[in-house]
Amino acid sequence: MLDELSHRLRRVIDKIKGVSYIDEKTLKEIIKEIQKGLILSDVNIDIVVKLSKRLEERIKREKIPPGITVKEYTISVIYEELVRIMGGEPPTLNIKQAPKPYKILLIGIQGSGKTTTAGKLAYYFKQKGYDVGLMSTDTYRPAGRLQLKQLADKLGVPFYDIDENDPIKIAKKGLEFFDAKIDILIIDTAGRHKEERGLLNEMSELAEVIKPNLTLLVIDATIGQQAYNQAKAFHEKAPLGGIFVAKLDGTARGGGALSAAAATGAKIYFIGTGEKIEDIEEYDPPSFIGRLLGMGDIKGILKKIEEVKLSEERLERLRQIAKGKFTLIDMIEQFESVSKMGGLYKILSMLPGFGHNIPREAIKELETRIKKWRVIVDSMTDEEKLNPDIIKKTRITRIARGSGTRESDVRELLKQYRLLKKTLKSGKGRKLMKMLQKGQLRGI
Ligand code: GDP
Ligand code: MG
Repeated sequence: MLDELSHRLRRVIDKIKGVSYIDEKTLKEIIKEIQKGLILSDVNIDIVVKLSKRLEERIKREKIPPGITVKEYTISVIYEELVRIMGGEPPTLNIKQAPKPYKILLIGIQGSGKTTTAGKLAYYFKQKGYDVGLMSTDTYRPAGRLQLKQLADKLGVPFYDIDENDPIKIAKKGLEFFDAKIDILIIDTAGRHKEERGLLNEMSELAEVIKPNLTLLVIDATIGQQAYNQAKAFHEKAPLGGIFVAKLDGTARGGGALSAAAATGAKIYFIGTGEKIEDIEEYDPPSFIGRLLGMGDIKGILKKIEEVKLSEERLERLRQIAKGKFTLIDMIEQFESVSKMGGLYKILSMLPGFGHNIPREAIKELETRIKKWRVIVDSMTDEEKLNPDIIKKTRITRIARGSGTRESDVRELLKQYRLLKKTLKSGKGRKLMKMLQKGQLRGI
């Protein structure tokens, strides 16, 4: 799948790894190679130009996080920008929250792969443990209905059919037939139109009766960047719908189809990667791009950068605390984080009331208390978390009830908060903050 693009991208990664540093010339070469790979997979030239500019800007101007090399950062920027043009974060399906059955309507021009896709989706959801049903409103090609029935039989999934020539009537009867007996109903359609307008009218008529939870436009990946027009017209008419990109196997133009569909703002839900029923994958741009780049090569880098970013965020929080902005969220998060690193002993020894001989049981007990505090804090309103001083009698009662704890637990948490806040302003507190910032609270 997208072998040529993958090949070029991997060459880029190898090149970055092979040089001792990235100078202007190397950066230009890297970007050229990425451009070639994308254009060969039919990605629109505007998208390629914009991507190149962003890559150059980011790699040259962005502040590189501490502990990360320019080479590592360059790889991560390439990854992020490719993920961005290929669709960003994947969508989520909320099947369990919807009333039964969750209805998926498939539309798309003739030959795009709808009937095959209907079978694939039935397979996919059945694998996940759902009761699935299939039906087809294709009155245009009776063979298409037979094709789907055969797929349904092979999967052991119920299929609804009736000798009827009106798609709307078939849809109505099929809905009655399945009712809430199944979890998911997948509806295949004729797609007898070759242009978008006719296709979308066909969709609207059916959607009125079916009221689908999700309408998926099936696009044939071999059309490359031409997918833009189809996806755009669809996204404008059905903004909550999604895209299924079929036939990604064996075409070099798949990058074009994916990026063109993503550029319309529509979300791609699945990809079809072969003729067989099991050739279906959820579309997840981060892992898709990871695979193209060679996940083994970049996973470590991405993880490292993620960790640095997290600890940067933590430092920023600590800076705020040092400035006197100390909230209940800060308290609980600092405790949790120090507890994870095994540094509670050091904190305890600095708090008033504890000496240097802190028994292990005291630490265990504090750990248990931190867990309880977390539950209590979670049942507070945002206002309360940020400004605990407003928490008086009735709020305490409500919070205790909401968190399943006693009022005395809530009072105890508030008392600790006030104490800690006061301590932070003292000499000991400033010392503690320094230790937190330097990460000196690891280990007991
Ligand atoms: P429909 O007219 O939209 O219902 O399209 P069909 O489901 O009948 O598929 C048209 C052709 O595309 C058939 O030959 C399928 O086997 C083929 N096809 C569908 N999906 C894929 C896919 O993901 N990969 C490949 N290689 N072929 C596919
Ligand atoms: Mg069909």
